[in-house]
Amino acid sequence: MSPDELHINIHDFATRLGFAGYGAVAVEKMTAERVRLESFVSKSYHGSMKYLAANMDIREDPSLLLDGAKSIMVLLVPYKPPLKQQEHFPKISSYAYGLDYHFFVKSRLRTLAEKVKEFYPQMNYRVFTDSAPIFEKALAVKAGLGFIGKNTFLISKTQGLQTLIGIIITDIPLKYSIEKVSNGCGKCTRCIEACPNGALIAPFEMDARRCISYNTIESPLGESLSSSPLIREDNIFGCEICMDICPWSSKGEPTNWEEFLPIVSQQGRSTIEIGAREWLEMEEEEFRPRFSKSPLSRAGLSKIKESVTFTKLKY
Ligand code: SF4
Ligand code: SF4
Repeated sequence: MSPDELHINIHDFATRLGFAGYGAVAVEKMTAERVRLESFVSKSYHGSMKYLAANMDIREDPSLLLDGAKSIMVLLVPYKPPLKQQEHFPKISSYAYGLDYHFFVKSRLRTLAEKVKEFYPQMNYRVFTDSAPIFEKALAVKAGLGFIGKNTFLISKTQGLQTLIGIIITDIPLKYSIEKVSNGCGKCTRCIEACPNGALIAPFEMDARRCISYNTIESPLGESLSSSPLIREDNIFGCEICMDICPWSSKGEPTNWEEFLPIVSQQGRSTIEIGAREWLEMEEEEFRPRFSKSPLSRAGLSKIKESVTFTKLKY
């Protein structure tokens, strides 16, 4: 099979699996990205996310992730929700309405890789999604899947901003993406103006410590109490203000990945319909089984409760 034919096959199969974009790049050093990340870390913009400062050599050189690595396949995973939360509920980022994407995205990546293996039985591979020290967004740009916006999100001109990135690193050669997507921000600065905490300190530059997403998910419990007051709006897990305000957010269809749909409890209550009081009164015995497979378990109930108290919602 020629590289062109294989490329078409991979693209078709990825589409059938529900991926919203596919591109491939050759494995090569990513020194410019390392320099940028080191600058970010040197200013302590990463807060307590120590993992961002670790494994720099692997980040710079993806070939360290797989013996004989030659190519990286990059896939877009669409998670735009068919239905957003209503205003009066404490807000959860839409990628977290349903199940933890790490598991089911990797599963579909493996299915895709196994399909490619039918053509290359000797092929070795590893799959990742937000689960290894890799410059995923930069790889998606190199793969021609989008551009980085001033809000630091990957933006696809056809799929919008609500996509996750899946990675398959492999030791076979592939047809690599040549066409790149031009930056679509122009003179727009909507996201920078909309951030309630000035976390977007300059175009393409974020101080995570001032970001609601960091403070509702990643920062240790109690850290938010000691830091300078942060406006949360109604967010209790993540924040999509600078995403929703972006003109490109109108692009992309609602996801057809069922795993992203809101978890519904045995009592028929959906994740996106939990009120402030209900969160504050929830016990660990209820939270753990109900959200053990949800991204919300990363923050944990105590942190969610802490975040609820920072909102302006009545409870
Ligand atoms: S996610 Fe929210 S807090 Fe973070 S930079 Fe965007 S608007 Fe600001
Ligand atoms: S809101 Fe405007 S400046 Fe910000 S990422 Fe979107 S297009 Fe770019």
